[in-house]
Amino acid sequence: MTDRCNLRCFYCMPEEGIDWLSRSELMTYEEMLRACALLVANGISKIRITGGEPFVRKDIMPFMTGLSKLPGLEQLTITTNGVLTAPHIPELKRLGIRSVNLSIDTLDRDRFFAITRRDELPAVLHTLDELLRHDIEVKLNAVVMDGRNTQDILPLVALTKDLPVSVRFIEEMPFNGTGKAHPSHWDHIRILEAIKEGYPSLQKLPDPPFSTSYNYHIPGHKGNVGIIAAYTRSFCGTCNRIRITPQGMLKTCLYDGGVLNIRDLIRAGQPDAQVLAAFHNAIDHRAKDGHEAERTAVHESMATIGG
Ligand code: SAM
Repeated sequence: MTDRCNLRCFYCMPEEGIDWLSRSELMTYEEMLRACALLVANGISKIRITGGEPFVRKDIMPFMTGLSKLPGLEQLTITTNGVLTAPHIPELKRLGIRSVNLSIDTLDRDRFFAITRRDELPAVLHTLDELLRHDIEVKLNAVVMDGRNTQDILPLVALTKDLPVSVRFIEEMPFNGTGKAHPSHWDHIRILEAIKEGYPSLQKLPDPPFSTSYNYHIPGHKGNVGIIAAYTRSFCGTCNRIRITPQGMLKTCLYDGGVLNIRDLIRAGQPDAQVLAAFHNAIDHRAKDGHEAERTAVHESMATIGG
């Protein structure tokens, strides 16, 4: 949707932000809708809107309305930091959005500020309440970071006791916009061990097809727990996702450097058949896994990629 964001999570971008895309570089809503309509007519059944922060882009709701009307689209979802989201929830519900991913790395206000460089935890918690009040399924995303929020793992898991939410712990990836990676020592195995220490009764759930998370349940809890091995990349074999960055770059893997610019094809006046053929060609040649994809990539901010 955009590379811009109203938070400055240190694992995603530097405090001063990144080199923002100019308006002319961004795909217009019309271009995005055309690309999505083409993909949905040809077998894509789920679209997730992300960024950057989707709600900082002006006029997002008319665009969402357009998407929601695409024949054949089974699921429309959104990933948000929850700061500006709450007033839009009734409209999201009306559009048929059944599930939202909300990012929250800690329940402690000081640590939230230290991680995101903004004092917005109350707004995020309000969004969580409102989503649940509107009966929208919520997946909470928490990146696990050495020395930053590992003490939050168990309190976040505890939310699943009374709330019907899925709390998903994500391995930190090297997309912090600084060009310098600091690989986390918290891989999915260590995260699982930390959860089991607090909840020895944790049970493995069957993972749905194409799932990127390993899923668990604690007996007696209303919600579930998931772990996303985003850095270890042990789920590549079942990943069926593609993504399009705000400047129209198709990525067949989060780790690749972009394999085709859809915006440029559209702006060059290519007919749908040509754009579709280019999509097919790119998808047919996708890397075997995220390690192979990474060989040709540079590490950008996750806000540019679309996390
Ligand atoms: N602004 C929205 C949000 O915060 O949910 C959507 C975009 S954000 C880039 C999407 C997700 O990517 C968030 O859950 C965020 O925590 C995650 N993310 C960003 N940088 C990451 C990194 N370096 N490693 C792992 N996850 C990251």
